Amino acid sequence: MSTTADVKEEPLKARKGHRSDLKPVWCPGCGDYGVIAGLGQAIDVLGYESHRIVFVSGIGCSSRLPYFFNTYGFHTIHGRAAAVALGVKMGNPDMRVILVGGDGDFFSIGTNHFIHTARRNLDILAICMDNSIYGLTKGQLSPTSGIDFVTASSPYGSVEPPLNPLALALTCGATFVAQCYSANIKHLKATLIEAERHPGFSFVNVISPCLTFNKQKSFAYYKKRISVSEEEVKTDLAEALTFILAQDAQSVLGTFYQVERPTYDGSQAAMAEAVANERGVPTMVELIEAFA
Ligand code: SF4
Repeated sequence: MSTTADVKEEPLKARKGHRSDLKPVWCPGCGDYGVIAGLGQAIDVLGYESHRIVFVSGIGCSSRLPYFFNTYGFHTIHGRAAAVALGVKMGNPDMRVILVGGDGDFFSIGTNHFIHTARRNLDILAICMDNSIYGLTKGQLSPTSGIDFVTASSPYGSVEPPLNPLALALTCGATFVAQCYSANIKHLKATLIEAERHPGFSFVNVISPCLTFNKQKSFAYYKKRISVSEEEVKTDLAEALTFILAQDAQSVLGTFYQVERPTYDGSQAAMAEAVANERGVPTMVELIEAFA
């Protein structure tokens, strides 16, 4: 198992690499700029060719990300990106599939797809750009907002406790679980490299402030409370969960859990090969006749 210490140090500026010529249309100061910088640098270090990468996103400010990379990209529909990512990976297992989206897309309309993609341990990297608000639709409550949070859709404060993305990922079966902060590009880049190299479902929640619609959770708010954990990466699920539940979910950064177990794509390929060896591969005519 490799560690972030193995990652060769690279300059922290955003480099051209796989970036497209399109400039992001995010608001000035949006936390998503830090994510694109860290992600671009991570991909440069990983050394993949552009045609081997596909970004799959849902709907939301952060889901525009595929446009800003000179790779394959699939800007899909709200909450369904994980299902599309599964199809892409199963259709072409050699592709490096990177699923991106926001907390609304991942944990509201898309929760069921997230759960089952993690449970299956599909070998992809999933990055949630978590700003605890719906930014694209001008500031409504999201699943990670929290109690008393005042938004356009909760003018007297929210009465809903927040969802904990890290605990959810752990309990659903993700085999790599980490949290980063878009203003800490060095940590983000190192974590994304490890997450992408991990064989299985890697989930990285990236706290990415929305300066326009989430005035409470600003960079100043996080600066006072966020830090990188010095805990060792855990391989025991109960220990990892106990640790996460003992933290303020939005104050701790790090890689909290990493284990290896069979991937969905790997297991399906092995099964297909075993069946083909046992029964042979039918011709198209034989298949049509079998169902006629
Ligand atoms: Fe970023 Fe918020 Fe602007 Fe969307 S609305 S681009 S999340 S700052």
